[in-house]
Amino acid sequence: MGVLLIYTGGTVGMARDPKTGTLSPIDFKNIEQHLPVLNNFTFSIDYLSFSPLQDSSNFTPSSWIKIAKTIEDNYDKYDGFVVLHGTDTMAYTASALSYMLGNISKPVILTGAQLPVGLVRTDGRENIITSIELAAAKENEESIIQEVCIYFNNKLTRGNRTTKISTEHFSAYISPNYPTLVDVGLHLKYNYNAIHHQHSDAKLTVNTNFDDNVAILKLFPGMNRNYVNAVLETKDVKTVIMETFGAGNGPTDSWFINRLKQYIDGGGILLNITQCNGGVVEMGQYETSREMKAIGVIGGKDLIFEAAVTKLMFLLGNYDSREEIIKGITEPIAGEIS
Ligand code: ASP
Repeated sequence: MGVLLIYTGGTVGMARDPKTGTLSPIDFKNIEQHLPVLNNFTFSIDYLSFSPLQDSSNFTPSSWIKIAKTIEDNYDKYDGFVVLHGTDTMAYTASALSYMLGNISKPVILTGAQLPVGLVRTDGRENIITSIELAAAKENEESIIQEVCIYFNNKLTRGNRTTKISTEHFSAYISPNYPTLVDVGLHLKYNYNAIHHQHSDAKLTVNTNFDDNVAILKLFPGMNRNYVNAVLETKDVKTVIMETFGAGNGPTDSWFINRLKQYIDGGGILLNITQCNGGVVEMGQYETSREMKAIGVIGGKDLIFEAAVTKLMFLLGNYDSREEIIKGITEPIAGEIS
């Protein structure tokens, strides 16, 4: 059946205009001119380009929904999907798609590039080619990859576990809290124990409900009350992600703890994730998180930031009750939390 390659925008699909010298999107119908090797695959590849193309920094939930619907419309026609995406918010899109696409049994692989595919030194060539190969890979007539992933610089990682860490290096992403799914070198080394396998033949479902009433409270030493109040008093926001220090720690000043308690007692939900680039929140381990735990702050365990923001939008979009949202936070939807 082959692979559908969907171009949504971003550096990967650009080339330098010989006249003006500026970078602009290539005509995707002619991508083979830039990547003649695409003609060498033994299976078919179809191309689809969004219009308008979007820098991923302009993405909103409606952009995620557009990708999900495109996959839904074409789901039965292809073995797998490669989504070419700007690198800036790729991890958010990957997380959102992982929640939206229920019962997924085919690969959806997001990739992009630090340098446009139209440039000689591009990293896009390898990223696109290997993503296509992984999207088509089967064993016993089943897709080996059956989830939403990011492929970048020789690693396939779970989409909702992956975060961008560099604006400069070709190895721009890491999966700090979950093993790599495929290590790519001379061979494709599949980490079968870590790859999700869909055990039922239930049909794909697409859930497009999001609610953007989410805010972020990033802690820093010396933050003042006005800042904390401003975030917690954001109009209509019922859910705040608190990015804490280390394993979920924060100041023990009574004004701070009392303000958090007031927010929670008023019906708000406070989720604690770490601002570290990896690791787990364990409230109660230190004195500096004991009271947060006692007043009802929810521990986000090993959820990474992108997965947490999109998960809360998704849960708020799907549930009204505070209890259901809180329960949903710590239960995995698509392997985003341990
Ligand atoms: N700003 C661009 C984007 O995220 C960067 C890139 O394409 O990698 O769309």
